[in-house]
Amino acid sequence: MLPDAAYEVVVIGAGQAGLSAAHHLLRRGLPRERMLVLDSADGPGGAWRSRWPTLTLSTVNGVHDLPGMAFTDVLGPDEDLSAVRASEAIPRYFAEYERRENLAVLRPFTVRCVGEAPGGFRVEGAERAFTARGIVNATGSWERPFVPWYPGADRFAGRQLHTRDYRGPQDFTSQRVVVVGGGISAVDHIEEISQVAETTWATRTPPRFSDERFTPDVGRAAVAQVEERVRAGLPPGSLVSVTGIPWNPRYRAAQARGALERLPMFEAITEDGVRWADGRKQAADVILWATGFRSALDHLSPLRLRGRGGGISMAGRLATQVAGRPRLHLIGYGPSASTIGANRAGRAGCEVRAVKSDLGDPILLGGLDACVFPPQCYLASRTRAEPAHRNHAGRS
Ligand SMILES: Cc1cc2nc3c(=O)[nH]c(=O)nc-3n(C[C@H](O)[C@H](O)[C@H](O)COP(=O)(O)OP(=O)(O)OC[C@H]3O[C@@H](n4cnc5c(N)ncnc54)[C@H](O)[C@@H]3O)c2cc1C
Repeated sequence: MLPDAAYEVVVIGAGQAGLSAAHHLLRRGLPRERMLVLDSADGPGGAWRSRWPTLTLSTVNGVHDLPGMAFTDVLGPDEDLSAVRASEAIPRYFAEYERRENLAVLRPFTVRCVGEAPGGFRVEGAERAFTARGIVNATGSWERPFVPWYPGADRFAGRQLHTRDYRGPQDFTSQRVVVVGGGISAVDHIEEISQVAETTWATRTPPRFSDERFTPDVGRAAVAQVEERVRAGLPPGSLVSVTGIPWNPRYRAAQARGALERLPMFEAITEDGVRWADGRKQAADVILWATGFRSALDHLSPLRLRGRGGGISMAGRLATQVAGRPRLHLIGYGPSASTIGANRAGRAGCEVRAVKSDLGDPILLGGLDACVFPPQCYLASRTRAEPAHRNHAGRS
């Protein structure tokens, strides 16, 4: 292994959250050569690279601009959004963003573990390691699909797959497909598959569709609830569990053809289908688990961040900072697990905060600012940094 290279801040993950954090760190004055951005994928785009081909710019929930560059900059003026795959357009956008921001992301580089090191952290991959005074972890959740265990799962003779491996309805033509899960992905899959196959929908709790328009106030209320949970050290839960599933014309059409009749969860999986507690059975060729993802944080396990509540106690503005560890930020985690949340959190994790110390130090800097500005430069740096911040606030 090569000797460790030392950085002020290592950003792990170059999706929406990591790119946003990198942008704000640079705007706040972190010298470019003191920051390292690592990403395990082969190219730009974060998890969007892998989203299924039928997810287009007209069927995504909405992609928020990265700070300082509009998504529309990479879209042709006449592009038909329903024909543009999210898995192509968003990587194209991120690639252009990295180019314009002059961000040299080191990829593919998978961080295997992050441990304590004198004055900070040691970030380890298979062949190289780096030290850093601060870490922004922005590894999303795509790498950790979650499939609940049901008795008999290993005996099922058909095909089982997770949303992560879904490539579109054409794979299921004329088959019997059981879709499991109560979130937007499940409803999207059913809407598509029910047009070519027989679908059955099973969810643990009744899905909650919402007629409410998704306004900024609705978004803020949802984020506030998830934020409350992570501040209390609880696992975050999903934003959609708070907002509900917004109705749209595609879902209405699926409902009209009877595809959104939901059943409670089955009790067991059999060789040729699923079985409910009351004895009812459904034959199936496929079980599609649209059961969500967990945060991809395994590489942080040496830091022992999880507490008794099963989650990680978060603190700081927008709850991006691991409580008690001001130089460790999780962006895109919990309340910031959306493109807009990731953006805001990317900025919050880098904001300058002045804290009066009990010991009489005039100013201590919280969070990653301690890495960005040496304390003696605080006032000068702040004066320099603020205009740039304001310029971007309206667009981020
Ligand atoms: C199916 C689906 C649809 C969604 N649709 C929307 C939507 O329409 N609008 C919206 O706002 N949100 C949507 N979301 C949520 C969405 O995932 C987030 O909004 C956002 O894209 C996540 O950005 P991120 O940067 O946190 O994570 P990601 O985009 O997942 O980026 C994480 C990056 O970290 C890298 N990485 C992971 N582990 C490591 C490691 N150990 N070492 C190095 N690199 C690592 C990955 O390669 C990846 O590039 C959707 C989520 C899903 C699952």
